[in-house]
Amino acid sequence: MLTNYLGFNVTIGQNKPENIINTTADCPFCDRDNLTNIIDQEGELLLIENKYQVLQNSLQTVLIETENCDSELSQYSKEHLHRLIRFGVKNWFKFTDSKEYQSVLFFKNHGPFSGGTIRHSHMQIIGLKTADCYAGLNPKEFEGIVLDKCDNVEFNVSTYPRIGFSEFNIVMNDNSNLDQLADYIQIATHYLLHSLNSRCKSYNIFFYLIDGLIRVKILPRFATSPLFIGYNIHLLPNNIQSIVDSVKKTYFSK
Ligand SMILES: [Zn+2]
Repeated sequence: MLTNYLGFNVTIGQNKPENIINTTADCPFCDRDNLTNIIDQEGELLLIENKYQVLQNSLQTVLIETENCDSELSQYSKEHLHRLIRFGVKNWFKFTDSKEYQSVLFFKNHGPFSGGTIRHSHMQIIGLKTADCYAGLNPKEFEGIVLDKCDNVEFNVSTYPRIGFSEFNIVMNDNSNLDQLADYIQIATHYLLHSLNSRCKSYNIFFYLIDGLIRVKILPRFATSPLFIGYNIHLLPNNIQSIVDSVKKTYFSK
C-alpha cells in the first residue's frame, strides 16, 4: 500500500486565492467578518475550516496567527508567541486524540518559496483519514549538533537534513514545556530570515508526533535542489559548525 500518496482536487485548487506573489490581491484573512466555520478562537488566534478542501479524505484547517497582515512569527512578543504555540498544539492534539484520522499534519509556510499561497501569517492543521504522514520519515533526520538544551527540550542543527541547508530540529523529551519549544522555534525563524544570509525569504515549520513526543523541524526554503527532487539525495552542507557557532554567539551567549 502506498500510504503516503494523497488525492488532490485540481478543480478546487484552481479557484484558490493567491496573494503571496500577487501582493495586490485582497487578503481573505484580514476580512474577519466574512470568515466562517470557526473551530476555535482565543484572542487574535483563530482556527477555521479551510474554504478550499483540495485534499481527499481530509479535513483542512487554517490557524490565523494574528490580526496584523504584515507581521511574522519571528517578530511576535513572547506572550503572543507562547499563546500561539499552546493554541496550535492543543488543537493538533485534539485532532490526533479524536482517532478520526490516520495521521494529522501541523505545519507552517512562510514566504514565496515555502509552497504557501496566502501571505498573512498562518499555520495549518490537516487531518488525513487515509494517509500516513510518517511513512517517509527517517528518525535520524532529527539528530544534530546541540545548540541549547533546557528543561527536557533540545535545539539542534540537523546533521542528516531532509533537504539540505541550515535545518533546525527541536526534540522534546516530554511535551510539557511548550514555551521553551516556542522560544526555540522563534530563534530558528529569526536566524533564517535575518542572520543566515539575505537570500532567505522563506521557511517551513513542521510538527511531528513520534512515540507521543513532539519533534519540530524548521527549514529554510529556496528553489529545491534537483538532486533531492529527482533522486531523493539529501545534501550535507559543510558549514554546520559555523552555523552552530553563529547561532550560539547571536542567541545564547550570556
Ligand atoms: Zn491579511
